[in-house]
Amino acid sequence: SRTPVNVTVTGAAGQIGYALLFRIASGHLLGPDVPVKLNLLEIPQAVKAAEGTAMELIDSAFPLLAGIDIHDNPKDGFTGANVALLVGARPRTAGMERGDLLEANGGIFKPQGEAINAHAADDIKVLVVGNPANTNALIAAAHAPDVPKSRFTAMTRLDHNRALGQLALKTGAPVSDITNMTIWGNHSATQYPDVFHAKIGGKNAAEVVGDQAWIEKDFIPTVAKRGAAIIEARGFSSAASAANAALNHVNTWVNGTAEGDWTSMGVVSDGSYGVPEGLVSSFPVTTSNGEWTIVQGLDIDEFSRTRIDASVAELAEERDAVRQLGLI
Ligand code: NDP
Repeated sequence: SRTPVNVTVTGAAGQIGYALLFRIASGHLLGPDVPVKLNLLEIPQAVKAAEGTAMELIDSAFPLLAGIDIHDNPKDGFTGANVALLVGARPRTAGMERGDLLEANGGIFKPQGEAINAHAADDIKVLVVGNPANTNALIAAAHAPDVPKSRFTAMTRLDHNRALGQLALKTGAPVSDITNMTIWGNHSATQYPDVFHAKIGGKNAAEVVGDQAWIEKDFIPTVAKRGAAIIEARGFSSAASAANAALNHVNTWVNGTAEGDWTSMGVVSDGSYGVPEGLVSSFPVTTSNGEWTIVQGLDIDEFSRTRIDASVAELAEERDAVRQLGLI
């Protein structure tokens, strides 16, 4: 039988962690025939709760689950990791300035980047879910100089999936007919979900929708503000859909995009589409053999350009702020 893949999950005792771990253990991260060994990383106060989740994982008797260990420090948590899902982060609380938020998260993602650099497996792949995800990924990567920057990614797949869901509701098409969706920029309210390159049943999605006012005034803000709408309705932030998107992100990264299609991932920019080199921004990407590639050559019209530029400007501000704080 195959050697288990070591998967590290931070913030394992949180609500996304609770929605994520059982599906990792049942084969939804890497595939139905890939055994996994789980390493749960938590802050010391949350270790006991993580132990409770581990008990439930044992009680699920997942055939693919080769073992579970719980850690309260990054060195042990990332030792031998092949895949790391960085979910735990410092949430923004009332009255907190953005600088405080970035600083608190620097205190988490800097030591995690260092531990990944020193102790993870050579093929480590990192997905940052904890917000501000793009900038947290930038911080972690900056402290892992021996790991290729391409291995640090940020999650915009939930935004991507939300866009698919809204287009399916609007047009009546099944989500499986919708391809080539793109989220550009930051995982924040400035993100730009682009329907102009998307396709529904092979036809241009914007033309199938045929309603520019809906795209501008309904679709884009609905996707961008969906997180807040879920908190408003459910009383808690989204967790199952965030966990599902994290599984989709890694599964696509490892197992590849379908021929002719692409996905959205927050990845380090090489300057494509005018996004300054080094920023972790969401792009359309294809994946193959465990590597991602930014889709080239898409025409960006005035409408899209303005929105991509606005989100990228926010990413540049966040980078400048963490630079000033000495975090990168
Ligand atoms: P959640 O599990 O709900 O969320 C975890 C992180 O995911 C947050 O930063 C959250 O951002 C982010 N996130 C990204 N996308 C989404 C989305 N679409 N919907 C909701 N969240 C999203 O948080 P909990 O408070 O339940 O759990 C966090 C856990 O992390 C705690 O157990 C805590 O102890 C742990 N932790 C661990 C650390 C470590 O291992 N070193 C460090 C810090 C915390 P946002 O806040 O913007 O919603």
